[in-house]
Amino acid sequence: MTEQRIGLGVDVHRFSEAAAGDAPHRTLVLGGVAFPGETPLEGHSDADAVAHAVADAILGAAGLGDLGSHFPDTDDAWRGADSLAILASCAGSAAELGWRLVNADCTVVTERPRLAGARAEMVDRLSAAAGGPVHVKATRPERLGTLGRVEGLACLAVALLEREAAGS
Ligand SMILES: [Zn+2]
Repeated sequence: MTEQRIGLGVDVHRFSEAAAGDAPHRTLVLGGVAFPGETPLEGHSDADAVAHAVADAILGAAGLGDLGSHFPDTDDAWRGADSLAILASCAGSAAELGWRLVNADCTVVTERPRLAGARAEMVDRLSAAAGGPVHVKATRPERLGTLGRVEGLACLAVALLEREAAGS
């Protein structure tokens, strides 16, 4: 007998007003893939909203709370951090409770950059960090609202975890 749990993850980051390249970690990173030349996102870590949303979904499915409580932005240990390491850490916390990632899916909501050319690599890197298959999709906000004005980028994710039920 196995038990399954789903989790939802949402993350939003503001695009930086500083020029790309102002600081070493100020390169746009999504799903562990760098997009040199694109406007970077602001954030305490590398601001990888895709890795954060998937990590948040895994924490949610495992009943472990939200990403911010595990990786507070007041903690210098995570300043400029590689968010794939954050994702791997969250997957590890779930694994300690016996959970295995069945799959995760995420949708990036943004006008830019276009993700099509990087999608396969994002899938590979996210899946390796999460320890299970992670799918990546993208949709454009059709120039509506704050995301449409490219003030920020949002990512939504779901994750399904499975483990052997106690006593089975
Ligand atoms: Zn984030």
